[in-house]
Amino acid sequence: MSCSHTATYVYHRQTHELLHSVLWMQRSAEYYAACETVYMGALDALDRALADTSWTAATEQKPPFGSKPPAIIVDCDETVLDNSAYEARLILDKTSYPTGWDDWCNEASASALPGAVEFLREADKRGVAVFYVTNRDAKLDESTWQNLRTLGFPQTNTAEQVMCKDERDGWGSDKSTRRDYISRTHRIVQVAGDNLDDFIGYKKTTIERERLAKDHMSWWGTRWLMLPNPAYGSWERALLNHDNSASDSLTLKIKYDALVPGR
Ligand SMILES: [Mg+2]
Repeated sequence: MSCSHTATYVYHRQTHELLHSVLWMQRSAEYYAACETVYMGALDALDRALADTSWTAATEQKPPFGSKPPAIIVDCDETVLDNSAYEARLILDKTSYPTGWDDWCNEASASALPGAVEFLREADKRGVAVFYVTNRDAKLDESTWQNLRTLGFPQTNTAEQVMCKDERDGWGSDKSTRRDYISRTHRIVQVAGDNLDDFIGYKKTTIERERLAKDHMSWWGTRWLMLPNPAYGSWERALLNHDNSASDSLTLKIKYDALVPGR
């Protein structure tokens, strides 16, 4: 029987969409090495960033900022916290996010990404403020902080440095307001994330996202530290036009249609 891309064809899930990406994150030496590469390179760049008071990593930063104390902004999920165990449960339970997400966060048992604790401890030693800016709900602030603290992340004596979505008025899913807030008191020298939205843009199209990434080519690896996350992200939601209401079958069809079988 042949499969053709006709209007009547219904895409059936043959395996879980997360199977390969989660196996790669949990079982490959490549993922470990990729994360370590990012964080070790970040430390090299940090020393240059601290010495150069004209250096900033935030498009929201407005001059003058040279005399402000330096800060690093890190996203949490798949940037410093490894939630692949949660993703593995989704595969085994044949379900999808957000099923069980809050329970997982409240377990506070995510592990640390390779190199993340070491890098941020070095930054801490150099007197750099570390802000954990996450789109986890404000109700998960406490458990997220506990998780980070247990793993030995610096500046986690209180939950003060963990900035969740909607923790304050104006702190929506678009992180630019939180970057702007931090930039008022600090010079943001580096930003780490696994999602373009952690650095710039929000609800952009696939083409706009590619353009934003290319426009800031010289920032990657020095100012902006991108960790690999093949499992999920705004790249996936952009394919779906940021519409979460599509059925499972339609979502899969859109993804098949987005494949590029040669140009
Ligand atoms: Mg993330």
